[in-house]
Amino acid sequence: MGVMYVIKCAKCGYKLYVTEGVGMMASSPNAVFYGKPSGNKQRWSVAFPDGLYEYGKPLLLDLVESKSIKDRAFALIKSGAEPETYGHELYICPKCKRLANLFYFKLKSPTQEYEPDYHCLHCQSSLLMVSLRERKDGKIKLIYKDNQNGEWRCPECGAENFEFTEGGFAGDWD
Ligand SMILES: [Zn+2]
Ligand SMILES: [Zn+2]
Repeated sequence: MGVMYVIKCAKCGYKLYVTEGVGMMASSPNAVFYGKPSGNKQRWSVAFPDGLYEYGKPLLLDLVESKSIKDRAFALIKSGAEPETYGHELYICPKCKRLANLFYFKLKSPTQEYEPDYHCLHCQSSLLMVSLRERKDGKIKLIYKDNQNGEWRCPECGAENFEFTEGGFAGDWD
């Protein structure tokens, strides 16, 4: 199950809604990459943000926006690559420090490996995957996947202090 939370700028109130992990709708790789639910028990029509699940329509089409990334992924799947891992992740632009919540996945075949290379909508830099931790003083610490601390800025006012909104890391989503 995934988690969902909201972080806000301590100064201007800018908010970012973040989902991490895998929601119920996407819990089957068959549904995400092949458009086939794995069992009959699941109900596919609820809570998926972009509408109804359609048989034969992989969820990846809605989970990823970039057409070139989708084309590449489906071409690889067609040639036999298989999903190894996937889920919503938080990314940051190393240059302008904006956060983005995007769908990560890894496809693997005997000869190749593929992960989407997401780019910043504002400056085109390659985005890096990050995670957040709450510090004792309530501020949020940002950590790169190599465990280095990172910095970030509010896209509205440039402040560097973010907080979790009431509830913090609360709840499963979908
Ligand atoms: Zn702000
Ligand atoms: Zn950028």
